[in-house]
Amino acid sequence: MTPTRSAVRLCDGRELIYFDEAPGSGRSGHPDTRELPPPPPASQLRHDPLTDEWIAIAAHRNTRTFLPPSDACPLCPTTERFASEIPAPSYDVVVFENQFPSFSDRIVPDELTQVTDMVPVRPGHGRCEVVCFTSDHDSAFGSLPPTRVRTVIDALADRTAELSALPEVAQVFPFENRGVEIGVTLHHPHGQIYAYPTVTPKTAAYLRAAKRHFEKTGRNLYADVLAAEQEAKVRVVASNEHWTAYVPAAARWPFEVHLAPHRQVPDLPALTDAERDAFGPLYLDLLRRFDGLFGKPMPYISAWHQAVTGEGRELGYLHLQLFSIRRAADKLKFLAGSESAMGAFVNDIVPEAAAQRLRDI
Ligand SMILES: [Zn+2]
Repeated sequence: MTPTRSAVRLCDGRELIYFDEAPGSGRSGHPDTRELPPPPPASQLRHDPLTDEWIAIAAHRNTRTFLPPSDACPLCPTTERFASEIPAPSYDVVVFENQFPSFSDRIVPDELTQVTDMVPVRPGHGRCEVVCFTSDHDSAFGSLPPTRVRTVIDALADRTAELSALPEVAQVFPFENRGVEIGVTLHHPHGQIYAYPTVTPKTAAYLRAAKRHFEKTGRNLYADVLAAEQEAKVRVVASNEHWTAYVPAAARWPFEVHLAPHRQVPDLPALTDAERDAFGPLYLDLLRRFDGLFGKPMPYISAWHQAVTGEGRELGYLHLQLFSIRRAADKLKFLAGSESAMGAFVNDIVPEAAAQRLRDI
């Protein structure tokens, strides 16, 4: 069932949207009683002429909340003792604009600092949102029931559709960082959505490859990769009627899985009811396998790759990329010289062996 959606404004004008599983929950009747300063100005984008990439410079993010105690969690519902970001006393799934955004759609800097003739600058237009998966501070995505995963997917689809329609938005990216090892600054189970004003470097590289492949074969690159993995089977971890999870043959990370729908769709809004329902059980199974690898919660990044909103949209193929930096019980993979300076990954774990270990759990 589609969740009930109610949108309100926080005291500083930011938008907050409740996605409730039971109709008539009435969350919008709770005003935000805090006094907050206006949101900081939009970041600045600078173009790196050497790599042809845009870099966001967002100095204000240095002041963001860092690992607060649980009774001062900004993502828990508001209580009598603490007014959080969420004014209601409870919620199912809630989305709101980030107080410390990397990109913002409401504020235009009066003037952009010019750098040099070689480095064009532009305002960091776009939007950054926070997605709370549950009001339970001590839970985790992997502990949610499938019905809640469905509500999260519906919320992400809603946000993708709305943010994609903004004229300044080139790409919408929902993701979750889990674990302090990844750099999480709030323990409460949550994800984020970045609506970028530019196509990201990773997506730009995919589009170049997908365009070449289409011109040569007339087919979608990702669809062909998925079909080849389904046929090879050796790297497939799990699957159901609508989705297949596999370790990419050239995985960059020690443990990395792609979860892709069998039907080519550009983004989350294009998924059918049946596809949305089938996602949760398989994804929860994957997270269980991840946590089972070393018998403790696995730090991970879970990243939705969606089609761009402009040129090249038809080349997109929705998929989720789930990966961890943990390569052994007490070892993390750090992006050191080769990866950080050259963008050249060296993976210590053979993808076929990673798939086998994940299947065996
Ligand atoms: Zn919390």
